Amino acid sequence: MIYLDGYAISLDRREHSSNIDFVSHAHSDHISAAKSSKSVIASTETARLLEVAKGIKIKICSERIDGIRLTDSGHMLGAKQIRIEPNGGGVITYTGDFMLQHAVTCKPIEILETDTLIIDSTYCTPEIKFDPRKEVESAIELWVSRKQPQGIILFGAHRMGKAQELTKLLNMQGIVPFTTEAIGKINSVYNESGIGLEYSCAGADEGEPELGWGGAVGIVETHRLDEVASRISKGTGKRVFRASATGFAKFFRFNTDVQFPLSDHADFRQSLDYIEAAHPKKILTYGSNSEIFAQNLSRAGYNAEPFRNEVMEGYRVIGLETGT
Ligand SMILES: [Zn+2]
Repeated sequence: MIYLDGYAISLDRREHSSNIDFVSHAHSDHISAAKSSKSVIASTETARLLEVAKGIKIKICSERIDGIRLTDSGHMLGAKQIRIEPNGGGVITYTGDFMLQHAVTCKPIEILETDTLIIDSTYCTPEIKFDPRKEVESAIELWVSRKQPQGIILFGAHRMGKAQELTKLLNMQGIVPFTTEAIGKINSVYNESGIGLEYSCAGADEGEPELGWGGAVGIVETHRLDEVASRISKGTGKRVFRASATGFAKFFRFNTDVQFPLSDHADFRQSLDYIEAAHPKKILTYGSNSEIFAQNLSRAGYNAEPFRNEVMEGYRVIGLETGT
């Protein structure tokens, strides 16, 4: 929770005493407050994604609050950081999930100087290093162009974010992929924001996309990959090449023909790049790996500790004193 004047703002989670809830983006591990909250701060794209993909109509905060600003986090369509600029106090920034590399389906991250940085802890150790996205994107393009003449290609991906990126990457290669209805719905929200995705939902859910059409490329949810691949294979008699595209491909082995480490997060090194650019005096690590991340940052010489509401309570007192 962060505090500004009379407001207690929760960060991507439900808090009993919040009166405003910030939802940084529409991925399910960030929206626990969205359904029941009476006052949500989120981008219009996040609000649309929640409505269309999850049937959640959020109540957007109707007040215009001075000292709150949203900036892009580069993670997926509509993903934002929140920046609190108290009158006379230090600036606090919460990143939510963020990525420094540029994806083809969302705006690049904006990094501003801040006094206190509350930073997402997803990749909290230096061992995991993501490859330049251009390399991963080229590898996908090459693999698709080689396999396309030999059968049908099916990608398994997260239905929100990664599936849209794959749609766009395939479009850039001149391919219009088939997708499941659920992915198609999310694609349509991306198109409302001018991303310009071309795709077809004809028959993908039934495992019969354009039966007999060799060279087809499809995208389905990760958990449906085997099921849809087997139905397409039976229905068409063609070989189905299965691919996964996720940052987890860097450290898990999937049962697919190929796996591409396409992550929409910053790795540890890139998190340090963020910190260097933002110049915070204090870093509070946020999320399930916050303890390890804070330890590793402290070892690297930064003033870091895990985020706790009690720490922010201290800020509230300072904020009130300096504000009066
Ligand atoms: Zn996310």
